[in-house]
Amino acid sequence: VGGRSCRRLSGALVRPLLDSVDCVLFDCDGVIWRGDQAIPGAPQVINLLKESGKKVFFVTNNSTKTRKMYADKLATLGFHASEEEVFGTAYCSAMYLKTVCRLDGKVYLIGSPAMRQELEAVGIQQTGVGPDPVSGKQSDWANVALDPEVKAVLVGFDEHFSYMKLNRALQYLSQQGCLFVGTNRDSRLPLEGGKAVPGTGCLLQAVETAAQCQAQTVGKPNRFMYDCVASQFGLSRDRCLMVGDRLDTDIMLGSNCGLKTLLTLTGVSTVADAEAHQQSGCAERQGMVPDYYVESIADLLPEYF
Ligand code: PLP
Ligand code: CA
Repeated sequence: VGGRSCRRLSGALVRPLLDSVDCVLFDCDGVIWRGDQAIPGAPQVINLLKESGKKVFFVTNNSTKTRKMYADKLATLGFHASEEEVFGTAYCSAMYLKTVCRLDGKVYLIGSPAMRQELEAVGIQQTGVGPDPVSGKQSDWANVALDPEVKAVLVGFDEHFSYMKLNRALQYLSQQGCLFVGTNRDSRLPLEGGKAVPGTGCLLQAVETAAQCQAQTVGKPNRFMYDCVASQFGLSRDRCLMVGDRLDTDIMLGSNCGLKTLLTLTGVSTVADAEAHQQSGCAERQGMVPDYYVESIADLLPEYF
């Protein structure tokens, strides 16, 4: 992948780009919504893209919701979408453990009830959701009770993350052949007013540091997220557009998979960030340069419809 252009997508460029694809993959936070509010104009753009015959998918690294929960949120915000069009990391990591790892055993889950539900939906049993209260003395912690059927540790967003969980993950990962999978590596979750809270990447790195080994991650930029959509809907990569607000996850995913890429400026990354990658002369960083950018996906509306 070389020589991405990072051109502003406006006026006469919009129609040829949209005409050149059958499928548009949208990242969620920072692209179609921010927190609990739709990006103004985003529902109209997405509904019109679908009405004009495009396949539309929602691809998010957020592991805190099931596909059903995302479908409900989308409906509440005015998007026409079904569960089958949503690919979040709760669902995709369950699919990954089942289809790629062919896991035969239980999961020790550092994650949310939504992740538990998606694992159970594909027939994978788990343990670990919820608080893990401090018990025993430090000298006993290396001998904490473990479930002998656990054959994988899965780390996603967990508001009950704790030292006890970190220790339990270490003890499982010290066992021969235990798989180690993370949902995603987003290090911070941006909030309004330039504020942020720690993301799943922080939790995953803590477990990696303790276990002294690296997890495989399912979420963007791992191409598994795209492969999951493509295998279910028979997509061809040269007829797909990936739209995202993060260069290191969304745009990198698009580049990894040979998709056309569009950065929107309603979220994390800026045009200056993209230009810094472009001008770095570093081959690896060229994957973080998008083909195009827009201020907001709402900018597609007057040009295309
Ligand atoms: N992970 C968590 C826990 C989040 O809350 C969010 C955003 O809200 C994300 C990841 C990033 O999601 P996306 O890939 O839709 O930008
Ligand atoms: Ca995002």
